[in-house]
Amino acid sequence: MTEVLHCIGCGAVIQTENKNEVGYTPPSSIDKETVICQRCFRLKNYNEIQPVTLTSDDFLRILNGLGEQEGLIVKIVDIFDFNGSWLPGLHRFVGNNPVLLVANKVDLLPKSVKPSKVINWIKREAKSLGLQPIDVLLVSAHKGTGIAEVVQAIEQYRKKKNVYVVGSTNVGKSTFINRIIKQATGEGNVITTSHFPGTTLDMIEIPLDDGASLFDTPGIINHHQMAHHIDASELKYITPKKEIKPKVYQQNPGQTLFIGALARFDFIKGERSAFTVHVANDLPIHRTKLEKADQLYEEHKGELLAPPTSKHIEKLPELVRHEFSIKEGKTDVVISGLGWITVQHPNVVVAVHAPKGVEVFIRPSLI
Ligand code: GDP
Repeated sequence: MTEVLHCIGCGAVIQTENKNEVGYTPPSSIDKETVICQRCFRLKNYNEIQPVTLTSDDFLRILNGLGEQEGLIVKIVDIFDFNGSWLPGLHRFVGNNPVLLVANKVDLLPKSVKPSKVINWIKREAKSLGLQPIDVLLVSAHKGTGIAEVVQAIEQYRKKKNVYVVGSTNVGKSTFINRIIKQATGEGNVITTSHFPGTTLDMIEIPLDDGASLFDTPGIINHHQMAHHIDASELKYITPKKEIKPKVYQQNPGQTLFIGALARFDFIKGERSAFTVHVANDLPIHRTKLEKADQLYEEHKGELLAPPTSKHIEKLPELVRHEFSIKEGKTDVVISGLGWITVQHPNVVVAVHAPKGVEVFIRPSLI
């Protein structure tokens, strides 16, 4: 391609190399006079939003654009990876626009957890991260739980203005928008996309019935999540599909838990304590003595300690140690994208070993 082509739908620069990035068009569709990218094509013809991703620089460009628009920002986060999916800079870019915070994948939380408790926790965390959302709602885009309430809230807060849906990759933004489209148009109805102006923000536009539109923005990749450090074929083991069953371990200092070969949790100092592990149900957890942990890892990673299995273990970045001195009980030690371990008792010292590049931090307990 010598000439730069733009999608007539979203305005993205057309490219034929990467299916998951903005502007992708199969080479066979390129010769036409008006080129439409695959994402816009699917929306136009199948009422379906397809996820695409962007680098953070491009995303900043979009965020900058958002501050200049007027409307409601709907920010989607993944409740299982709240901080990892947060999009830290957003509040600086939205201008005076209200932000509706939607936490997706609530079906993964144990049913015993009260929604009001989760919402209060989210409000506190959001505040400490610099965002004061107009409202916080819990949904499961996958199951459809809470979707009607979100549609209602969007109608109420947008005040007949546009809606911009933002989120990092994998939060379930596409699943969410597809649900909303179904809810709004009814099964089988085709969205009228006659009003389909090119924007230069790579956003794709879904017309609402009063002349305003809902815009899907590309997802932003967060490189601090576990998902970017393991082979795609093993992602299914770490991504929970169902309600998480927390596993409680009564530990003495000097004991270690391995989560597959992906992470290790050492109890270093403190009274005998309970630690509750919140990770995908099928991830094997192996308990051992701290003094034997290094040797066990070297000898058994990829086999007894898996995933990753021996086929992919060499690609896993080396584990890096993060030590925490925890003063308060009910503190989560979070391994971004893998899950978290709730330290139930105060005054303990623990260390997490996680692949280099994966964020590890503590927060007040979510559950
Ligand atoms: P996007 O990258 O944000 O557009 O995310 P997708 O809509 O493609 O979803 C990413 C992954 O999350 C997929 O594996 C979905 O099946 C899953 N997912 C989306 N919504 C939910 C949900 O409500 N609950 C659960 N458990 N998984 C979900």
